[in-house]
Amino acid sequence: MKLTVVGMSGSFAGPQSPASSYLVQASDADGRVWSVLMDLGSGAFGALQNYVDPFEIDAILVSHLHPDHCSDLSGYYVYYKYHPVLGTQYTDRAAIPVFAPENANARFALAYGLDEGESMDEQFEHLKLSCGQTTTVGPFEIEAFEVNHPVEAYGFRVTGPSQFDPSQRVTIGYSGDTDECEGVRKIARNADLFLSEAAFVEGRDDDIPAMHLTGKRAGLIASQEGAKRLVLTHIPPWNDPNVTYYEARDEFDGTIEIARASAVYHV
Ligand SMILES: [Zn+2]
Ligand SMILES: [Zn+2]
Repeated sequence: MKLTVVGMSGSFAGPQSPASSYLVQASDADGRVWSVLMDLGSGAFGALQNYVDPFEIDAILVSHLHPDHCSDLSGYYVYYKYHPVLGTQYTDRAAIPVFAPENANARFALAYGLDEGESMDEQFEHLKLSCGQTTTVGPFEIEAFEVNHPVEAYGFRVTGPSQFDPSQRVTIGYSGDTDECEGVRKIARNADLFLSEAAFVEGRDDDIPAMHLTGKRAGLIASQEGAKRLVLTHIPPWNDPNVTYYEARDEFDGTIEIARASAVYHV
């Protein structure tokens, strides 16, 4: 599997990166490339077009409905509906499956400003996320886990063929936005790559519970759950990423990287 960081900026787009968005791709046995998008936060739809034709996305996973994870679905809707050659207005192109929390399409419609009675159902087929159930998309098996954030929120495990040996299955775990909880531990468990948010800083944000991880807490989870590699993400521009890195470094012996926009990880 190939993971491309479309955007990694925490809570809002930053000068160096859009907000959260990650592209996971792998080929099936016939050589067809499948593309699953995890989140599409502010600014991410522009950058996404550098890596994939948006018409080629096979499924979208939305971790939760904060704008730094889903606001660019408004732009995607325009592209998918009104593209003068390929848009749903001119073709019988199918809606993209969007796995997202309750009432997601109503929220997307509100954000865009659709009139009453209008919907995005012809562009985005909203599928409710359910935990404990595996969804298959091409060569991927996708599982959702409820995590610890002030709104209904999920993280994901995406399992698919190894980029190095396609006969082997490997797993990318993505925390979404979360504080410490059992869900994020399951996401990290033995993951080949654990993509973990680390928006908070030890000592600075200790009074805000049930919101975000720190580098230290992400490192501890990676270590205790046996993740092989840790990529720290969702870092707001006001943080020093080196502080986050060294917090995690104290807890986790494996490879640690700070996500940056356009970085590609082969898993
Ligand atoms: Zn966020
Ligand atoms: Zn959030």
